[in-house]
Amino acid sequence: MLSYRHSFHAGNFADLLKHIVLTEILEHLIKKDKPFDYIDTHAGAGLYDLQSDQAEKLGEFSNGIGQLKPEQWPALASYFAAISRCNPKGGLRFYPGSPLIASHFMRPQDRATLYELHPTDFKLLSQNTRSNRRIRVLNQDSLEGLLSLLPPASRRALVLMDPSYEIKSDYDQVFKVLKNAHKKFATGTYALWYPVVDRHRIRKLEKLFISSGIRNIQRFELGLEPDSAERGMTSSGMIVINPPWTLLEQMKTLLPQLADTLDKGKGAFYSCDTLVPE
Ligand code: SAM
Repeated sequence: MLSYRHSFHAGNFADLLKHIVLTEILEHLIKKDKPFDYIDTHAGAGLYDLQSDQAEKLGEFSNGIGQLKPEQWPALASYFAAISRCNPKGGLRFYPGSPLIASHFMRPQDRATLYELHPTDFKLLSQNTRSNRRIRVLNQDSLEGLLSLLPPASRRALVLMDPSYEIKSDYDQVFKVLKNAHKKFATGTYALWYPVVDRHRIRKLEKLFISSGIRNIQRFELGLEPDSAERGMTSSGMIVINPPWTLLEQMKTLLPQLADTLDKGKGAFYSCDTLVPE
């Protein structure tokens, strides 16, 4: 039984990294008229009210999206445009999850498939995306279903994989699924989010990718404090297979500024590197 609800964490520093990388990839995909498919294997509810009891309980967004003033981040204009679209009355009451960020960029020729297993979040996701007929929402296990969607008819796709890692075996399983997905569709872009709670586990995951035979893998990380043996997430990262050629340079500019902005004197940091070259 799944217990994770993203509504407690929406807009936090991990969402910032994930959604900025997501935005950069989507912006690249829409540079060509050719259609693309967006596949979100762990979609969540799609939209979050930052004034809800759940969001306010931990207040994580206040050291995430709450720290960024749009006018100071011209390079993130389209990310902020996706957020503004969810706040027609202005301000920052609602924060879009990955599905609504993606739908902001989708054109009439593009399609999306969103997986969400949690019954409550599936219902919310269905409501939050119902105005877009090009979005299909599935209440199924994406780790079982993803391969059946590949390769997509469009032959251009972004797969975002953003698990909640509630079960320790999830780390090995997401790697296996991604490796098989890449075997079926080697030219797709795959973006995997990971939390740093236990650095050894992430080193192991990195090694799996490095020795997988898959080429062209980059990794981006943003942390609020150095690794620790205490409980809790100190940093998070994205592993991207077949990134747009512009992504590394963009992240090299953005990540130091983001780490600087989020630093509360505990040693915020970033990393930005190529795990496997092309
Ligand atoms: N990607 C979302 C975003 O950026 O706004 C947040 C997703 S949240 C971190 C992870 C979600 O995955 C949870 O809502 C959880 O219920 C769902 N989930 C977990 N395992 C799943 C699976 N095997 N298939 C589909 N959904 C799953």
